[in-house]
Amino acid sequence: MIIQGFQKVTLLDYPGEVASTLFTYGCNMRCPFCHNPELVTGSMGSETAFGPEEIYAYLEKRKNLLGGVCITGGEPLIHDDLDVMIAKIQELGLKVKLDTNGILHEKLKKLKPDYIAMDIKTSPRKYPDLGFTGKSNAGELAAESASWIIASGIDHEFRTTVVPELVTADDIREIVRLIKGAKRYFLAQFRNTKLLSVEWEKKLPYKKKDLDAMRKIALGAGLECAVRGV
Ligand code: SF4
Repeated sequence: MIIQGFQKVTLLDYPGEVASTLFTYGCNMRCPFCHNPELVTGSMGSETAFGPEEIYAYLEKRKNLLGGVCITGGEPLIHDDLDVMIAKIQELGLKVKLDTNGILHEKLKKLKPDYIAMDIKTSPRKYPDLGFTGKSNAGELAAESASWIIASGIDHEFRTTVVPELVTADDIREIVRLIKGAKRYFLAQFRNTKLLSVEWEKKLPYKKKDLDAMRKIALGAGLECAVRGV
């Protein structure tokens, strides 16, 4: 596995834990609104990469100061040795939070992280509006992963970046039906800078009142829901 970025300490990425964050290289999607294009396209260069042994050595030294490790991307599930990395980190006594887009459903089901944060991009029928390097049924696979996560007993959250047109109030209604019973749902404000698609930087974010209205839809469906980034 190539770790393309390593944040040694964060108080923001793992709820309730002092954590380190690992950014894995590569992704099976090409979301036009992606804020990590360098992780998706590989433009960061190999000089910024870390090997797993380097990471384990750091975590071994700091394990008494840390509570957990976040593994994010890109899409961590594209790496076949992700299960080994999760197990090794847990052997150090640290909890693992996994960030995923949920499309590699069969792989996800075999993993045992302590926390899963899954992005739901939009309603399943609109996933073809995004860019992929893989599966045409990505929306259905993401929906299956969401159901599996809720039933798994693993602590979790779901989140949606509310990109105008891609995510409407009707899409939120569909998503909240999909994640009925979820522990937490976050709506993240769309920021139109440094995106994978320059064209999508022309889109203007929703106003706060629009986000509040979407949050009300989620609350009305019985979900714990907060808005981030406004
Ligand atoms: S799934 Fe995440 S990392 Fe991959 S392209 Fe989409 S936003 Fe970027």
